[in-house]
Amino acid sequence: MDKKTRLVVKVGSGLLANADRLTPRFAFMQRLMEDIARLRDEGYQVILCSSGAVALGLNAVGTRPEDAGVNDKQAAAAFGMPLLLNAYKQVGHEFGFEIAQVLLTLGDFEDHRRFLNTRNTVNRLLKSDIMPIVNENDSITTEEIRVGDNDRLAAKIAQMVEANHFIILTGVDGLYDRNPSDPEAKLVEELRDVSEYIDATKGTSTLGTGGMLTKLQAANMAQNSGCETYIANGEADYPLSSVLRGERKCTRCIAHEQPDTLWQTWLTDRLQMAGSLVLTEEAAATLGQGGPIHRRDVMSMDGEFSRGDVLHIYDRTGTELARGLSDFTAEETRTLINNKDFPADQLLGYQTHAEIIRHENMVMVEDRHLPWETPTPTENSQEAVG
Ligand code: GLU
Repeated sequence: MDKKTRLVVKVGSGLLANADRLTPRFAFMQRLMEDIARLRDEGYQVILCSSGAVALGLNAVGTRPEDAGVNDKQAAAAFGMPLLLNAYKQVGHEFGFEIAQVLLTLGDFEDHRRFLNTRNTVNRLLKSDIMPIVNENDSITTEEIRVGDNDRLAAKIAQMVEANHFIILTGVDGLYDRNPSDPEAKLVEELRDVSEYIDATKGTSTLGTGGMLTKLQAANMAQNSGCETYIANGEADYPLSSVLRGERKCTRCIAHEQPDTLWQTWLTDRLQMAGSLVLTEEAAATLGQGGPIHRRDVMSMDGEFSRGDVLHIYDRTGTELARGLSDFTAEETRTLINNKDFPADQLLGYQTHAEIIRHENMVMVEDRHLPWETPTPTENSQEAVG
């Protein structure tokens, strides 16, 4: 392999923690790390996104997974994280390589400066041949500012490092076309459009935070950035290389042929919104043709944003059309759109082109992007552990 191939691996809590005793599953870790060592020898650069911190800390805080509240989980994560990393460190040494911990919060992806900073850190570790182990910093994140599940956190890492492959290891063989308890259910071995299966997958796992739905959302994000994604059972010998070599059944989500750029994915796959604009019918109809958004195009606005914040752009029916960076503060934007006939320079007191969002700072939101929000589970739920 001449150029290093980047592989992001996500491992769910159910594989790392014994379900009854909530203790580490060292045998699984050994199988995983041995396989990673082999792939590293073959020239892969591997980044591991590992869950399990909360599950491995619950005993210490005296709570069972089904009874754990937010605060219990935050305390459990603080206890479980060093335990987990220590185990990885020791097993890594057994197979001859080093690991390092990178704990992230939502802002490390959504704030562009922090995004670049995180990317530099991960790249720097890879340059020294150290495997980054990434997790959300659960102990300090609150509901509003968290990614919430490691499936999407790992997908965001895959986008960030422009990974070639992304493997989600879980407790089932992959995605089924309906609830797997149905005897007619079949494993979906290959798919392009994850949205076809969303209804069959709603549900969450008992130990981890995600379920099959968040795995599909994660796959969608990675596919759109040109990354081949696999959802596979972790309970196998050589759990990763057997998937990459096509030696066992799993769900392969084919990468999009025309992937988004890093910049496009940064704008589209995000959770926090600083503000929004609703466009006139005419402006909405011509938005995709390549111009900027002028103040005459804006019917209404919402939010208290600053210059450079991300705005969501809607048509009058509430359909999201695009996202872009605001050239003005909310106050300036309000002044401009409420006084459309006055020269912008006079209104703001400085020379300006008065484009609310410049063309080059905007990305159209295509149908192929699934929304971030997690719909509520239904009775047809399809579970996956972690
Ligand atoms: N960050 C959580 C942990 O380490 C796991 C989140 C998830 O299961 O997706 O326990």
